[in-house]
Amino acid sequence: MRIDKFLHDQQFGTRTQIHEMIKQHRVILNQDVVDSFKQQVNPTTDEVIVDDQPVGMQMDFVYLMNKPIDVITATTDASQKTVMDLFTQDDFRDDLFPVGRLDKDTTGALLITNNGALAHQLVSPKKHVTKVYEVKVTGQLTDSEIAPLTQGLKLKNGEHVIADSAKIIASDLNETVLEIAIHEGKYHQIKRMIGALGQRVNQLNRISFAGLTVADLKLGEYRQLSKDEVAKLL
Ligand code: URA
Repeated sequence: MRIDKFLHDQQFGTRTQIHEMIKQHRVILNQDVVDSFKQQVNPTTDEVIVDDQPVGMQMDFVYLMNKPIDVITATTDASQKTVMDLFTQDDFRDDLFPVGRLDKDTTGALLITNNGALAHQLVSPKKHVTKVYEVKVTGQLTDSEIAPLTQGLKLKNGEHVIADSAKIIASDLNETVLEIAIHEGKYHQIKRMIGALGQRVNQLNRISFAGLTVADLKLGEYRQLSKDEVAKLL
């Protein structure tokens, strides 16, 4: 089948959008950049990657994990424990991979799937997936000190970022607990936003991702999403 039909079936967008993605060299077939939308692909044997995420025709699996600290968001690593190491032998599949990433010292909601198209959509800033974080910061902060988070602020590298909402949920002389919702997903975004306020994150927990909360899961536990839950994500 033609690569543009394959990607269309996989919900990567309209034919025009897919042709644009190919022109921008974002589609890789068996480790070679695809340069024609007429390129033939065998969905069962070929490896297709879009924006660094694998795309597959196989059955879809989507898990929600409550990521603990000290495991890294990766599929494999030579020396460190990864989120994939938390899967039981029965649930583990070598085509599963995390959707986006949480830092090694961040806990909370992380989706793990083998559906490349779904992952691609969920990490796209255009999809506006809301991520809510509980953020512990040293010292006592005031509403006016955190106001720049929702007014928009400039990070050290010049990037502009803005939170959808930010509020103080607890505070004393030693520590302030904030709840911050964002739909962007830039590298270390929360830590860099707090850094731009001249503060430092002590503890970071993602309470929810796309409306899915991990309150019912202990750290390190995961559960498979139902078909209805997956459908709501799309
Ligand atoms: N922002 C961060 O700084 N770290 C994370 O793990 C997630 C969001």
